[in-house]
Amino acid sequence: MQAIGVYPGKRKLEILDHSEPEIRRDDAVKVRCLEVGVCRTDREICSFVYGEPPAGSDYLILGHESLGEVAEVGAAVQNFQVGDLVVPSVRRPCGCLACRPCRGELQDFCSTGEFVERGIKAEHGFMAEEYVERERFLYAVPQHLRELAVLVEPLTIAEKAVAQVWQTQERLPWLAEKSDAPQGVGLKAVVIGTGPIGILGAMKLVIEGFDTYVYSRLKKPNPKADLVESVGAEYLSSSECSVAEFAERIGNIDLVYEAVGIPRLAYEVLSVLGTNGIFVFTGIPAPHPPLEVEADAIMRNVVLKNQLILGTVNADAAAFKAALADLDRFLCRWPQAAHSVITGRFGVEACHQLLLGKAQGIKNVIQFA
Ligand code: BGC
Repeated sequence: MQAIGVYPGKRKLEILDHSEPEIRRDDAVKVRCLEVGVCRTDREICSFVYGEPPAGSDYLILGHESLGEVAEVGAAVQNFQVGDLVVPSVRRPCGCLACRPCRGELQDFCSTGEFVERGIKAEHGFMAEEYVERERFLYAVPQHLRELAVLVEPLTIAEKAVAQVWQTQERLPWLAEKSDAPQGVGLKAVVIGTGPIGILGAMKLVIEGFDTYVYSRLKKPNPKADLVESVGAEYLSSSECSVAEFAERIGNIDLVYEAVGIPRLAYEVLSVLGTNGIFVFTGIPAPHPPLEVEADAIMRNVVLKNQLILGTVNADAAAFKAALADLDRFLCRWPQAAHSVITGRFGVEACHQLLLGKAQGIKNVIQFA
C-alpha cells in the first residue's frame, strides 16, 4: 500500500510501498485512512530536526493527525464496527511499571521518556492507506463531524492546555466559584500565533468565555485575521502594535496561550503577563543560538505577580473527548469559520510540496480515500 515516509539515513521524503498492516491482537482495529493533517512537527521531521523510525526500519511513516474509517475489527473489539469513523491519539505508554503516569493512561505525562509517538517517535504514523491500532487509542467520531474531525488532534492541544489552566488556577479560589457563566468570563486571554494550534486555541478560549486577543505578524486585513474576528476574538498585528502597546490596550492579561514556537516573541509577551496570570507554552522550537531575554524583569514579575508558566504536550483521553465535543460546538456556532480552518485538501502526490515547500494556508490535509 501507499504511505508517505522519511528516510533519515538518506535524508529523503518518499511516497513508499509499505506492506498492508494486519490485525495481530484481539483488541486491534484496522483503519482505512481517509485524511491526515500536515503540521509543523511533520515538516520538522522532514528537515531531520527530530523523528525516529521504528526499531529495525530505515524509514518512518509520517502523520499523527488522522481521520479514518474502521475496515476490520479484532475478535475482542467492543466499541467499534466496520464503517465507524475514528481518530487515533498519538502517544503510547512506555510500558515501564515504575511509570505511574503511563500506568494510569496518562502517557502525555510519561516520566521515563521511553514513550513512543505514532508518526514521530519510534512508531509508524497514519500517512498510509491503512493502519492498525488498539481500540483503546481510538475515539469514535459522529458522522456529522466527518469534514472537520481531522482537526481533533490539533484541537486536543488547546483542550489539554485549558484543562491544565483550570486545574492549576484552582490556586486562585475565586476563579473556581460556581456560576452559570463559562469560567473564563471576565478574564483576558492572548493567543500568540495564527497557525492551526493558535486559531483552534482562540476558538476554544472564546467558547470558555475569555475576552480573546490574537497576536500575529501579518497586518490586517488578511484571511486569518478575518477568521479569528469572525469568532469574536480581536486580532492584533505585531507589525502595527508592539507588545508593550497591546499590553497597555488590553489591561491585565490573565492567560497567554503560546502557539507559535518563536522564543523571542514568546518571552517578550511573557514580560507583559498580568497579575496572577498563567503563560502556557505549546510550541516546540527547533534548536537556535542562545537568546537574550530580560530575565530579571521576568523573574521579578513571576514572583511579585504570582505568575505561573506551564508547558503542555500532547493529550490524554479526556482532551480527545473534549475536542470532539468542542468541534461540534464550533460547527454549530461558527460553521463557516470552523470549515475555513482547513484551507486545502490534496492527493498523496502533493506531499513533497506540503511537507518541504513553503508553509501556506492554515491546515492542509492529505487525502488517502
Ligand atoms: C503532536 C504531539 C507530540 C508533539 C511532540 C506535536 O505535533 O501534536 O502529539 O507530542 O508534536 O512530538
